[in-house]
Amino acid sequence: MHGASTQCAPRLTAEWTIFDTAKVACTGWANGDFAEPGRIGEVRRRKVVDRPWTTLEQVHGARVVTVEHPGECSGEPADAAVSAAPGVALAVLSADCAPVALASPEGVIGVAHAGWRGLRAGVIEATVQSMRRLGATRVEAVLGPCIHPCCYTFGGGDLAQVESRLGSPLAATTRSGELSLNLPAGVTVALRAAGATLLDMSRECTACSGDLWSWRSHQSKRRQATVIWCA
Ligand SMILES: [Zn+2]
Repeated sequence: MHGASTQCAPRLTAEWTIFDTAKVACTGWANGDFAEPGRIGEVRRRKVVDRPWTTLEQVHGARVVTVEHPGECSGEPADAAVSAAPGVALAVLSADCAPVALASPEGVIGVAHAGWRGLRAGVIEATVQSMRRLGATRVEAVLGPCIHPCCYTFGGGDLAQVESRLGSPLAATTRSGELSLNLPAGVTVALRAAGATLLDMSRECTACSGDLWSWRSHQSKRRQATVIWCA
């Protein structure tokens, strides 16, 4: 429980540093809705990292935009962004889909929004390829909060499509014993296929954690953010 003080900023749900300079932050319920437009949304974003953010019009595809100036490409229909430019902050908004943040020692950063359709479309592989075009050698990634197999009830036909695309079994069972998709495992396999490494992930499931927004568990249109920037 937080005390009565209003001095301290709400706790982020996850934070990482990749290759010493790339910082990653994930928000949750306590930080507010990051899909909120206008001034309120801007204030929320700036509290996490005080620079213009690039956020996308996410469409569950595999398009990657390259950001050359802070804030560029905001609102573009795409599910991933990469950059080697100073001063940028790349973000994806998510409820149950997987937010992946990536970095290289050369200072190339990326972010990808991957649900099952994105995995099937190859968004993670496309993001790593775009980072390599900007000079990335080693690519390491972290996975922010997403839905976990405990809650991700999934149809057999769709599951077979994702498994066939990634060449790996991804079936699991929910807490109540139904067939489910292991989305974190799918992200791990896609990263490996692209020659990248998953360093760490948020262990919390968006649908059952209690402090994250979830479409599956409460049909929320609100979103948490996963943002990456170079310090
Ligand atoms: Zn769960």
